[in-house]
Amino acid sequence: MFKIVYWLGILGQIVIRAPYQKWRKSEAKTEKRSFNSVEGFILVLLLVSGFILPLVYSLTDWLSFADYSLPDWAGWLGAGVLALALYVFARAHADLRTNWSPTLEIYKGHDLITNGIYGVIRHPMYASQWLFNIAQALLLHNWIAGFAGLVLFVPFYFLRVSAEEKMMAETFGDKYGKYMASTGRVLPKL
Ligand code: SAH
Repeated sequence: MFKIVYWLGILGQIVIRAPYQKWRKSEAKTEKRSFNSVEGFILVLLLVSGFILPLVYSLTDWLSFADYSLPDWAGWLGAGVLALALYVFARAHADLRTNWSPTLEIYKGHDLITNGIYGVIRHPMYASQWLFNIAQALLLHNWIAGFAGLVLFVPFYFLRVSAEEKMMAETFGDKYGKYMASTGRVLPKL
């Protein structure tokens, strides 16, 4: 039952992202790229942990040796966290619009977005992914399929965020410095 909720979450992410993905492929001209093979490798592992392992867990009993049990309320909590993750994901895409890219890039005519949800936190998409991975562990009751996402997202997040902020600071200078001073990374600044 909670497995189905997880797959609805994956579907939600795909539907929210689809139009931006389409735009990026057809029109984007890249001016600057800051992406390395370590990050590419982790991105592939994230696909395995968020999609392949949950798929194996949902369709076979190969991972059943690593199952754990949680009370029902934990599954419902997972569903709530997942819904919040999708809400933040949708808001972030609506605000970042065509400046979105899956890897670290600056487009020709790239805007620095500081309004909407970006006026509160600098990395709402990564905040959403933290929530999504926490929901994964509450919805898929298996040490491998449930926790792989969270375990792999930790190194990805720290590598990505520092490289991204360096790239943004090089591109937008003082403007980005000011923006950093008034926002938090994934939690609002108090
Ligand atoms: N870190 C952001 C964006 C993820 S998409 C988030 O979590 O919501 C990654 C791309 O977004 C980067 O290549 C960068 O070019 C772009 N980007 C990140 N922050 C931005 C901002 N405030 N304004 C415009 N583009 C931004």
